[in-house]
Amino acid sequence: MRVLMIAPPGAGKGTQAERISAHFGVPHIATGDLLRDHVARGTDIGVQVGDYLDEGELVPDEIVLEMAKEAVEQAKRDGGGYVLDGIPRTLTQARALYELAVDLDMTAHVALSLQVEESELVRRLLARAAAQQRSDDTEKVIRRRLAVFQEVTRPIIDWYGERGILVSVDAERPIDDVAREILTALEVLRSVVDHVPDAARSPIDLATLHTAFGAEHRDPAPRG
Ligand code: AMP
Repeated sequence: MRVLMIAPPGAGKGTQAERISAHFGVPHIATGDLLRDHVARGTDIGVQVGDYLDEGELVPDEIVLEMAKEAVEQAKRDGGGYVLDGIPRTLTQARALYELAVDLDMTAHVALSLQVEESELVRRLLARAAAQQRSDDTEKVIRRRLAVFQEVTRPIIDWYGERGILVSVDAERPIDDVAREILTALEVLRSVVDHVPDAARSPIDLATLHTAFGAEHRDPAPRG
């Protein structure tokens, strides 16, 4: 199974990516974690990207694309599945990643969009800031990261919708409920992805399902 996570900071993409990775036995590739690791180790890349992370700005496309290329090539050697968490974040990245994946015969089966209201994202990120010491979890930087998502990353969701691989989920619910819904949807899709070409599929919007059935939002997941 090959999945791209498209979600704003605080939506729980790292947590849900871990669940998907464990369920399908595929590597979880998180560009934010890879970049923070470079910063912690003081590598050349770490020195180049430190300020971007601290300010909530996007790191230049070339740097993250090179990182993603190595990780996806490794994923191919490891069996061919992946959960990409944190990339693509720009249309340039989305297109470049698609070309790379076509070359490697590793295009994504699903682009998973996690939907959470902005006020809830801010609440979760501030709670995480109090619990963890991430340099980009101050209120000013949190607001900047959310604005970057709205302006630069959100438009790529439509691109995946047009490709027929978009699955949208209401992520403003408890972690286990969201995970169960995601894994159920991915299990269903697993049986069709190899037989139905992307272009013949339609986007799947599970986010409206709860509203349609009158379900109420309950205690949300605590971390992003
Ligand atoms: P995350 O842990 O995914 O929230 O990422 C933390 C930070 O890493 C972001 O605010 C960006 O500064 C940087 N970053 C991670 N992934 C990317 C990406 N695909 N493109 C540009 N910057 C990224």
